[in-house]
Amino acid sequence: MTSKPTLLLEHHLKQLKLPSFLREYEKMAALCGQERADYQTYLLRLAEVELVDRERRAAERRVKAARFPVLKTLDTFDFSAQPSINEALIRELMRGEYMDRRENVLLIGNSGTGKTHLATALAFAACQQGRGVRFFTATGLVTQLLERREDRELERFLKQLERSDLIVLDELGYVPFSKAGAELLFDVVGRAYERTSLMVTTNLPFEAWIEIMGSERLTGALLDRLTHRVHIIEANGPSYRLEEARRRQKGQTAKAKDAATAD
Ligand code: ADP
Ligand code: MG
Repeated sequence: MTSKPTLLLEHHLKQLKLPSFLREYEKMAALCGQERADYQTYLLRLAEVELVDRERRAAERRVKAARFPVLKTLDTFDFSAQPSINEALIRELMRGEYMDRRENVLLIGNSGTGKTHLATALAFAACQQGRGVRFFTATGLVTQLLERREDRELERFLKQLERSDLIVLDELGYVPFSKAGAELLFDVVGRAYERTSLMVTTNLPFEAWIEIMGSERLTGALLDRLTHRVHIIEANGPSYRLEEARRRQKGQTAKAKDAATAD
């Protein structure tokens, strides 16, 4: 039968919201008993377990709140497949200090060169570091902005975005925006200026942004803010998807040949 102090202790730990303490205190007591560790060491170890678990849960919440379409990390990125990418700069950005300085990151390059993969890996690292992140496709964000405005929720949404440390705008340039959409996007960039870091991936050189934004004036103002303090990563190699498809096809052809010669 569970004793009264145990029941009380478990109740208090629940009230104090110390779930890892609650889960581990018995096991840890046995362990510390074996090791003849003192009371302080016992308490310290439990506090450490709670702290580590709390950090992990918070990071998981931040990753969920960021709404990544697919999770990608840097360890699955093959830099040798894309030598045009500045690996040293990516590794430096992984440390996240650019967000303390409210600097932006721009990833420019053809389709399939790993821009989204890298942006996701960088933003994921930011979540692990305790930073608030939101990930959008550029068109997804514009659609949301238009919807929120319709529902008179725009200001709240913009305020919520303002609280992030990093906003990712993936794939700017595939679809041109309406006039209202471009203006709303400019609002986000304007409000983020010197407050929140922006990370933009695009297949378009700067000259072509006017076609997407629809206005020279707006494009100029947007680029001005975006590029004031910016790290630019250029990827101009072959498409990883195409190369992979080619490799697969070659593998199949080779297999077919082997099969033919084996006959
Ligand atoms: P982009 O956004 O530039 O069009 P993606 O990041 O979507 O390209 O990359 C396309 C696919 O190829 C993704 O599945 C991505 O994980 C993979 N990929 C691209 N480049 C690399 C690379 N250098 N190493 C490993 N995987 C890569
Ligand atoms: Mg992409």
